[in-house]
Amino acid sequence: MPIVSVRIGKSLRNILVTGLDLKRHLFFNNDVRTYNGKKTVKFNCETFTTLNKHRNTPILLATLESPTGLLSYANDKYQGMFKVITSSKGDSCDIVNEIPMEAYISSLLTKEMNSKWPIEALKAQAVAARTYALHKMRTQQVTKELGSEAYYDLESSQKHQVGGSFFDATESTNAASNDTRGEVLTTESGQIRPIFFHAKCGGRTLRPDQVWHNKEESYQSVNCPFCHVIGPKSWNSTITRERLKSFFLWASEQGYIKERLSGDLNSIVLVPDELDKFTVNFYINDRPFIIEKAVLRKFFGGVIFPSNTFSIKKQGEGIMVLGEGLGHGVGLCQMGAFAMAMRGWSYKKILAHYFPGHVLKKMY
Ligand SMILES: [Zn+2]
Repeated sequence: MPIVSVRIGKSLRNILVTGLDLKRHLFFNNDVRTYNGKKTVKFNCETFTTLNKHRNTPILLATLESPTGLLSYANDKYQGMFKVITSSKGDSCDIVNEIPMEAYISSLLTKEMNSKWPIEALKAQAVAARTYALHKMRTQQVTKELGSEAYYDLESSQKHQVGGSFFDATESTNAASNDTRGEVLTTESGQIRPIFFHAKCGGRTLRPDQVWHNKEESYQSVNCPFCHVIGPKSWNSTITRERLKSFFLWASEQGYIKERLSGDLNSIVLVPDELDKFTVNFYINDRPFIIEKAVLRKFFGGVIFPSNTFSIKKQGEGIMVLGEGLGHGVGLCQMGAFAMAMRGWSYKKILAHYFPGHVLKKMY
């Protein structure tokens, strides 16, 4: 079973780890120490950071294990091992949990889905999250992006996926993880590619290239007549003319629109838009511009744009945005999976619906 390294804390001034019979290995002086009984070990990160002042690459400072129990950090308990590393800037520490994949997936299900949801929905999520993690591990994506050994495969946050701790796992999440042990989605040619998921698509899922420009050949946009029965209803937001101006200036600066716009945007006119379009047309100073909808969400954020599925209409001097769904909209629709599982669909059938062009494969 693969062991996954998850960064659970970052940019820390100090780290306190509690556990039974702790075994602590300090790497800079190769000092191994065992503490009997329940003890707390403290790392003052500032004293360590002088070690890599001029390197700007993370250094593995220490590992901590408890052969007889769990490890505690920040009021949560963890299985496996902790690694303490200097952060890439060298001014603080990060903490990484090394944990067997199935244990990681089980506690993650509570955070990324809901442990009380039907088991077939949890299993579908388990396969999606396992594939996502295994892809990060195999490609060593974090280390490649950093340009030096990162000491972890993925971080526990919205950026990657939100993991849990030991007591987040339940009987049901353990079953969902273990019953799908080693199963991932691959492309038809057997490749492991990133598998994405989101809360609610609002009627139709999106392809990665429609949201982030990264082309994943195996993805298709599929209809989802399931998720409308659960979760938030449609949403709407308003954007003032001033904010819209700032957006266009930013988009031009970032190269999201071909022509460079200057400070004077005298007239902004919206061309009528529809929900199922991925781009929106404007006339700015009487010249036509096309902008991808995902770029609007990138600028205004997930509070004003809860999803990437929306239509825009004129409202006074500004615009009104009317949308469906929650999250980026790519891949597995979690609320759709919930509704399908309630109707008796198996996790295999749920995955086949959201990921045509993929096959389920047992890797270990
Ligand atoms: Zn959906």
